[in-house]
Amino acid sequence: MAKVLIIGAGGVSSVATHKCAQAAHIFSEIVLASRTKSKCDAIAASVKERYGRDIETAQVDADNVPELVALIKKVQPDLVMNIALPYQDLHIMDACLEAGVNYLDTANYEPLDDAHFEYKWQWAYKEKFEKAGLCALLGSGFDPGVTNVFCAYAQKHLFDEIHVLDIIDANAGDHGLPFATNFNPEINLREVSAPGRYWERGEWVETDPLAWKMNFDFPEGIGKKNCYLMYHEELESLVQNLKGIRRARFWMTFGDAYLNHLQVFKNVGLIGIDPIKFQGQDIVPIQFLAKLLPDPASLGPRTVGKTCIGCLMKGVKDGEEKTYYIYNICDHQACYRELGSQAISYTTGVPAMVGAMMMITGKWNKPGVWNMEQMDPDPFLEELAKYGLPWTVIEPAL
Ligand code: NDP
Repeated sequence: MAKVLIIGAGGVSSVATHKCAQAAHIFSEIVLASRTKSKCDAIAASVKERYGRDIETAQVDADNVPELVALIKKVQPDLVMNIALPYQDLHIMDACLEAGVNYLDTANYEPLDDAHFEYKWQWAYKEKFEKAGLCALLGSGFDPGVTNVFCAYAQKHLFDEIHVLDIIDANAGDHGLPFATNFNPEINLREVSAPGRYWERGEWVETDPLAWKMNFDFPEGIGKKNCYLMYHEELESLVQNLKGIRRARFWMTFGDAYLNHLQVFKNVGLIGIDPIKFQGQDIVPIQFLAKLLPDPASLGPRTVGKTCIGCLMKGVKDGEEKTYYIYNICDHQACYRELGSQAISYTTGVPAMVGAMMMITGKWNKPGVWNMEQMDPDPFLEELAKYGLPWTVIEPAL
């Protein structure tokens, strides 16, 4: 029985909060705080309607450390779940250290004025968390998150060494709009417009953004889709933690309409992160564009189809070459029926709750700063399936 403080009240937080409310035997008290309190109140009202549970709400600016510390000290939670944006990670980690509380997030730190993410900033907190006897769990979403745990499961049960890893993320859903992102538009556009990067023979190889394409045949009726090579944050920790890894890549599917819009936005400078003067005011083009785009949390009712995110791995077991594919399929409309959300928010919010559950029950709680594959995958995967994200392991015929 524990008290959790959730920060952020967007699409992912809504799912994580509902899922915490479902697991009342673990999360006996839930407090939800964000920049815009009315969004917390709307989530709390939905939780009350669905599960009859009361959730306390609060307003907080998570970029203001003293304000955060005051809130954490007042609430006295066992864990702070950071489901705001990557820009807030270090501020919330600082506040957790000062208030003496464990920390979890779903995306790694990214400076607002420099569109690139790296774990170095958060890994630098390792000693501080160790000294304070506190645990920080990084990237407890789907990718990063479940993909790291799939790798840990494969390393524990299926392989002696994993040599080749391809993480493949398909959103085969259709929202019927000309262009929308399925999570925070600013973070999404910064990520997909960055150069690609993969790991090969002990070093990083850089590619132009979305320059490499492959066609992958997804299971369970999704079929063949074009996937594009991108850099994704879990690669950074996985290449350090997977024994014998020689090559690691990340792929994501994009439709032609998405890619055409992206190209036009790029061509006209709309994904720039440096301020420009407009009618005497400084505006940041990508923030202006993000304001015009649909709120991903609003896509639930109109999105149909499925997501399929998984890890295709080759390696050796007992001297024999092996290939395994571990994946989850999630249906947008099933998520909407359950929680009013689309599948991207759902596939991120459920593992955020399960990671929190692992920490609170002490199954994953050791001082320091950790990536998901550094923990025992078995209890996590058991709960993940129970709370709506079952997974499958196959030995594909390639
Ligand atoms: P949204 O934009 O829908 O929600 C973000 C929330 O954070 C909003 O409620 C926003 O408040 C709040 N917020 C932003 N800045 C502050 C601040 N300074 N203080 C307090 N609250 C703040 O994002 P998503 O729900 O789509 O994404 C949430 C997180 O999940 C992101 O970090 C994203 O990168 C991550 N993610 C991870 C995935 C994974 O698989 N690991 C996949 C998808 C997303 P306001 O409403 O006022 O704007």
